[in-house]
Amino acid sequence: MSALPIALAGIGKIARDQHVPTLAESGDFELVAAVTGHEAPQGIPAFPDIDAMMAAMPQVKAIAICTPPRGRLALVEQALGHGLHVMIEKPPAATLSEAEAFARMAAEAGRTFFASWHSRAAAGVAPALDWLRGRTIRNVTVNWKEDVRFWHPGQEWIWEPGIGVFDPGINALSVITRLLPHGLILEEADLRFPANRQAPIAADLHLDSAGVPVRVAFDFDQRGPQTWMIDIETDHGLLTLTDGASRMAVDGAAVDVGNEGEYPRLYRHFAQLIAAGRSDIDLTPFRLVADAFLLGRRTVVEPFDWI
Ligand code: NAP
Repeated sequence: MSALPIALAGIGKIARDQHVPTLAESGDFELVAAVTGHEAPQGIPAFPDIDAMMAAMPQVKAIAICTPPRGRLALVEQALGHGLHVMIEKPPAATLSEAEAFARMAAEAGRTFFASWHSRAAAGVAPALDWLRGRTIRNVTVNWKEDVRFWHPGQEWIWEPGIGVFDPGINALSVITRLLPHGLILEEADLRFPANRQAPIAADLHLDSAGVPVRVAFDFDQRGPQTWMIDIETDHGLLTLTDGASRMAVDGAAVDVGNEGEYPRLYRHFAQLIAAGRSDIDLTPFRLVADAFLLGRRTVVEPFDWI
């Protein structure tokens, strides 16, 4: 099968770090166009919006949307209106209602919609799921702590009213919602807001998964080594996922899970969904974030600055 012509919308950090290099190696897709207000990747024609792109390049069949969550609704409407298959970066949207609208719109348009969760494609997740089968989970601890200054340099959108530290935190939620078989209910949340910002910089969550306690700590102000770790205690050993679930250990001993990156898997899955005429839209991690805002106690902490 020949590669499907695909466009990228929003040529920022993640588009340049992951999508462009992954598409360059993909046998399923060929990157042929960019929708950008700034600069397209080298050698790729740039268009200010999807309408202009489709007028000039009607051969485009799919689009990956890599803009910040706020403002995606209009892009998704345009893309589906032109009959494109759509993949979106996490988190899926600015609000739950918008994200739910995507599912309806894609079904009406009869096109594939993939609300991607890149951390679910991390190398350790499928082996962890296999290892957990048949074991009884007793306790889960998540520590997901990174420096916003490094991962979102100068990105003011991340501090607009919105999910703040849950932007990385939702990656951990996307992994545990895949691994825990009985679903998750949020019981308590503590959200810490910098005095000069409208989004939380840290959060602690208490969740329950059919009687199993799940404790979660998110921090966007972690200097030095970064921590993306999930510990799952079972009746037969301790499973540890580190480095964003790209590494796995059992009782402290490393397990070889290979080293394939997340994005080749994501694009393979998108190609498979298109071939099968299906969509993949699981909003469970996003719903838990919304629950944290519904239930969370709020504390104002010291102002944030980028230095
Ligand atoms: P970014 O560097 O700020 O890039 C976002 C791009 O979206 C901008 O370059 C711009 O594209 C376009 N855009 C459209 N409306 C915008 C607006 N109102 N404000 C800012 N940019 C706007 O962001 P990013 O880090 O790539 O993140 C984009 C999405 O990917 C987010 O949902 C994020 O959660 C997700 N993500 C990020 C990372 C990461 O490590 N940074 C990792 C995984 C997923 P043009 O310049 O082409 O006009």
